[in-house]
Amino acid sequence: MDKPIVVVGGGIAGLSVAGMLAGNGMRCIIVEREASLGGHVRDWACMATDKCLRCFCCSAEDLVGYARSSDKIDVRTGWELSSVSLSSGGPKQAVLKRIGSAEEKTEEAAALVIATGFEPYNPGEKILLGHGRLDGVFTLAEMDSLLRRDMLSVFTRGRRGLRAAFFQCVGSRDANSGANYCSQYCCKAALRMALKLMHESPDISVTLFYIDIQLAGKYAGALLKAAEDKGVRLQQGVPGEITNSEDLLEVIVESQGLNRKEPFDRVILSIGERPSPKQSVLDQLGLPANEFGFVSSRDPLDNSRTAIPGVYVAGTCSGPKDIETTLEHAGQTAEVIMADLRKGALR
Ligand SMILES: Cc1cc2nc3c(=O)[nH]c(=O)nc-3n(C[C@H](O)[C@H](O)[C@H](O)COP(=O)(O)OP(=O)(O)OC[C@H]3O[C@@H](n4cnc5c(N)ncnc54)[C@H](O)[C@@H]3O)c2cc1C
Ligand code: SF4
Ligand code: SF4
Repeated sequence: MDKPIVVVGGGIAGLSVAGMLAGNGMRCIIVEREASLGGHVRDWACMATDKCLRCFCCSAEDLVGYARSSDKIDVRTGWELSSVSLSSGGPKQAVLKRIGSAEEKTEEAAALVIATGFEPYNPGEKILLGHGRLDGVFTLAEMDSLLRRDMLSVFTRGRRGLRAAFFQCVGSRDANSGANYCSQYCCKAALRMALKLMHESPDISVTLFYIDIQLAGKYAGALLKAAEDKGVRLQQGVPGEITNSEDLLEVIVESQGLNRKEPFDRVILSIGERPSPKQSVLDQLGLPANEFGFVSSRDPLDNSRTAIPGVYVAGTCSGPKDIETTLEHAGQTAEVIMADLRKGALR
């Protein structure tokens, strides 16, 4: 097969599909609109304490390194898909456009992979939670960013004995805001963040409020046990309203139909994964989104193929996932593409 496979999105899903295909001798073009590869994972911090906590964030580095060094992968950062021409056998040509310029390039394409990822939920619409308005209310993404830049002092502000509360499912499992699904990554990410904070600031105390804790994956049980052993207080509850008084956050916690007020110094909102609002690729291809706005696969038992022959999907653009499941999905998509190539289904 001379024609390349065009992969739209250079996050870990796109990088992983391209890496597997290239490793099997296929040419790929990765089209990434940002200036660098890695997607959201490049913004998350290493959660290692005195040991690795298996957040898998460092997997991005290896994938980027492979894509950059492989002679089978052509990386186009700062580019996006402009249009695709389709035939009954699949995509024929992909027109790529350099962001911020009129420059375009037309590429023959054996197949197209949509790997355009997700957007973190913006909790600004939950006015009662006070994010962006109250000092001391952070999101998990902001905590990652502080840790990554070695700026935890912005969180602690030199205070000792901080009482921190995590609130789970912010913008997930939320029928009122059209997101009645679990974001999959955030229970584990919050437990790791709690352990990391307690490692960095041993005098901090952490309460984690949950609806129910969703933990899947090989290391999830050990993570929960580590958090319990370390003294993370696990409580059922969701935040009703957060207000501040003096230097304190007063949180109304709704639990089992009752409301109670608890004081905390810091609150961390475990924000969910939302479909990327920039999923223009769906419009360009005329593909439907599912009820939550993620890319629809052909059917639930064939979640790497879309309704268009030769157009595939990988990673969180098809639904929320953590890194482990994103990589599994990407591996499965690469295998499906190779099987279709072997069958002669792609021309
Ligand atoms: C706060 C937070 C912390 C997290 N921490 C962890 C963790 O510790 N461990 C864990 O397992 N998971 C974690 N996750 C989940 C993890 O971020 C995802 O599993 C992972 O990023 C999914 O990768 P992806 O490639 O599907 O999507 P993305 O990371 O979103 O990458 C998609 C890429 O596609 C590009 N793109 C989008 N549209 C276009 C277009 N039209 N043209 C070209 N390029 C395009 C984007 O610029 C981006 O580079 C976290 C999530 C959040 C919100
Ligand atoms: S898996 Fe996570 S915690 Fe472990 S070394 Fe990598 S980035 Fe750090
Ligand atoms: S992983 Fe946990 S915090 Fe995230 S949506 Fe699911 S239940 Fe809520």
